[in-house]
Amino acid sequence: MKLSQTFAKTTKTAPGDEVSESAKLLIRAGYIYKEMAGVYDYLPLGMRTLDNIMQVIREEMNALGGQEVRMTALQPRDAWEKSGRWDDKVLDVWFKTKLNAGGELGFATTHEEAFTRMLKTYISSYKDLPLYVYQFQTKFRNELRAKSGIMRTREFMMKDLYSFSRTKEEHDAFYEKVAASYTKIFNRLGIGNDTFRTFASGGSFSKFSDEYQTLCEVGEDIIYLDREKNIAVNEEVYTDEILNELGLDKSKLEQHKAAEVGNIFTLGYKYSEPLELEFADEEGKRQKVFMGSYGIGPSRVMGVIAEKLSDEKGLVWPEEIAPYKYYLVAIGDKANEVAEELYNKAPEQIIFDDRKNARNGEKFADADLLGIPYRVVISDKTLAEDKVEIKKRTESDTKLLPLTEFIVKLGQK
Ligand code: ATP
Ligand code: MG
Repeated sequence: MKLSQTFAKTTKTAPGDEVSESAKLLIRAGYIYKEMAGVYDYLPLGMRTLDNIMQVIREEMNALGGQEVRMTALQPRDAWEKSGRWDDKVLDVWFKTKLNAGGELGFATTHEEAFTRMLKTYISSYKDLPLYVYQFQTKFRNELRAKSGIMRTREFMMKDLYSFSRTKEEHDAFYEKVAASYTKIFNRLGIGNDTFRTFASGGSFSKFSDEYQTLCEVGEDIIYLDREKNIAVNEEVYTDEILNELGLDKSKLEQHKAAEVGNIFTLGYKYSEPLELEFADEEGKRQKVFMGSYGIGPSRVMGVIAEKLSDEKGLVWPEEIAPYKYYLVAIGDKANEVAEELYNKAPEQIIFDDRKNARNGEKFADADLLGIPYRVVISDKTLAEDKVEIKKRTESDTKLLPLTEFIVKLGQK
């Protein structure tokens, strides 16, 4: 990307109504644009970052044997009436609309009903199971309070995986595999150290559900953390009785604010029963499918990473999710020519700050604001030694690297 050509310029100030640091930085750095409260556009840098987060999750979902699909956001009334969730009193975040042709639609808040119904066409025998299907898809929720920028919005990206098993035992084994996969995902996303599997109020078929909570000052949940045992309890289930049951010692628990980045639920027959998702077992007997659901909010995760890893100079992205790896600045005419050549070798890895009207100081400040992992400076001085100067976003010292070595790095991705 060449900065001279991008429309999303950096700014010194953020909208006055943004409270969270992540929202201010993401707007100032040109990653997102605020349309209205709780509704944001993803600009080129923001979109690449979100895509990278989704790609990490996608790789881990595929490793679990998940099959990716994309379901429609438009939800028919009848499927949700069968499960009892069409009523606004039951699900209070619906956006609904009337069809010109008659009838009503809802905009998907989640997709249990849709997946269950769709798979009735494809699941008939025990041989079709177990089955794991997931998607990345836009969810709409009429949240009462939209706050903390992209951490709670009225339209957001969700990864939702659904499991369809023959028995509870088969389900339980997969559930633990997903739990391990989530740990891996949050590690890869750079928030693993501060993200904890957390006991929360139950699914429909189990006493608890598992949330993945990331310690975060602007998070909306309160959790009680046992660092030694590496587990936490959401305040919603924090009672003496439950602590006892989990073998947790109240005096050892730390209270923290946290943001829920993902969760996993045992659904059992909650949806397969009313929507009649069944299979014939080995004896030919009809059985209900045992289900689970597993969510992660990639857009909330992006907000949480921005919130937690940023510093006083700006955003800081882990390498795996940064929109670009290198931020290239050229000082001098000869350096500019070399920079142009380097850029052409790896335009997918480099932001070339080729702005003619920006001073070097402004370029360095923007390199920090954008949170790109490495700043690379080429000047007549470095070129005299056939070198480039490279600096990590999270460190203050610079290193000289032979130009040839940098070119090898560019080839590596
Ligand atoms: P919360 O308690 O924060 O409202 P939830 O329990 O409603 O979350 P789910 O319905 O299970 O969450 O959604 C799965 C994931 O989607 C959550 O773990 C979170 O990461 C993300 N998510 C939920 N609501 C929002 C929202 N309004 N904006 C952005 N991400 C969201
Ligand atoms: Mg919610």
